[in-house]
This record gives sequence, structure tokens and C-alpha cells, in this order.
Amino acid sequence: MAEIIVMKAVNAENELYAAQVKETLDKRGILLINLLSSPGSGKTSLLEATLKEWGGKYRCAAIEGDLFTDEDARRLERFGIQVVQLNTQGSCHLTANMIVKALEKLDLKDLEFLFVENVGNLVCPASFNLGEHKRVTLLSVTEGKDKIKKYPKAFYTADLLVLSKIDLLPMTDVNLEDLKQDFFRVNPQADFLSLSVKTGQGLSQWLEKLENWRRGT
Ligand code: MG
Ligand code: ZN
Repeated sequence: MAEIIVMKAVNAENELYAAQVKETLDKRGILLINLLSSPGSGKTSLLEATLKEWGGKYRCAAIEGDLFTDEDARRLERFGIQVVQLNTQGSCHLTANMIVKALEKLDLKDLEFLFVENVGNLVCPASFNLGEHKRVTLLSVTEGKDKIKKYPKAFYTADLLVLSKIDLLPMTDVNLEDLKQDFFRVNPQADFLSLSVKTGQGLSQWLEKLENWRRGT
């Protein structure tokens, strides 16, 4: 009983910060995307591919959530965008309060897309609204076929499931149709796309999705 009350209080506070984030970004027309996945699914690689393909077409910034390191932030800085590194010092998810602090470090003027790379973890990041407009959950084919059933919240709270490393599908025991079925069973409203940053397959659909979201369609 006590635990339930604590959890509610934490979430209520988080919701207040999330609303503050959303309001700040809405005023400026900045689209916030929250990227969720387990470690190694390709969140940073997808952002690299996005920035490379766009080649400065849109003004982007990124907030990188990591336990300790800043390697992913450095990978994105190479594209000349503003990056804020959030080191959670061992905490396994980002909270909206952290995003409020990160926004203070960013020049929001003329920004169009703000990407948040959450801490690699399929469990608790799903419970924290960061004030995002869209939540994207990544799942790589190499993670096997059971993750949607085992960690449903990361999937039923997503606006889009990106199945990454699709070029490796033949090497796995994942059946694409079965996996799609598992996903749409928990989240019938969401979108699904598969891609590979290595071969470029599906990348154009991803970029189109981002542009449509920003246009509000
Ligand atoms: Mg990363
Ligand atoms: Zn956590």
C-alpha cells in the first residue's frame, strides 16, 4: 500500500514537469521524440543515419541519456548539432525533470526536432512521460521474438515500433509476421516499420514519418 502511494506521488510530480516540457516546446513548434529500447538496439545509430540523410535540412538537437559515458553524445556532435549529455549516475531511466534541466542548456531558437535518447532499458523508461510528442520504441531482430510479450509497456505506450537491423533477420529465429501480430495485439493504434541503417532499407519511410509528425499529420 505504501509503495503504491509513493509511486503515485513520483508520477504526479513527473507529470507536472512533463507538461512544462511540452508547453515550452509547443510554443516554439519543436517536435520532441523519445527513443526507447534496450542497450544495443541502435538508437544512436538511427539518429546518426537520420542526421546524415537530412544533411542539415532541419535544425535538430539531441538529449542523450546514459548511465555514465558521453560516447553517444560525441557521435552525434559530429553532425554539428547541439547535444546535451544527461548522465544519470546509475539511474536506469530519464525523468521529465531531467529534460527541463537539459532544455535550459539548449538554444531552442529555430529548432525543429529534439530527439531524446533514453537510457538503454526496456523496463522503467516506459513509465516516465518526458513531455514527448511521439514515443518511438526500437527493437532489433537480434533481441529475439519474446521481448514484446516480456516487456509490454515499452510497446503499448509507443506511437511507432521500429524493428531495427532488419538485414540480420535471416540469421535469427524471428518471424516478421508473428512479431508484427504480437505488437499490434498490445498496441493496435501504433505504426510499425522495419529498417536497417546498414543497408538503408526502410530509412526513407522513417524520415517521412518524422516529417509527417512535425507537420501534424
Ligand atoms: Mg546509444
Ligand atoms: Zn529506471
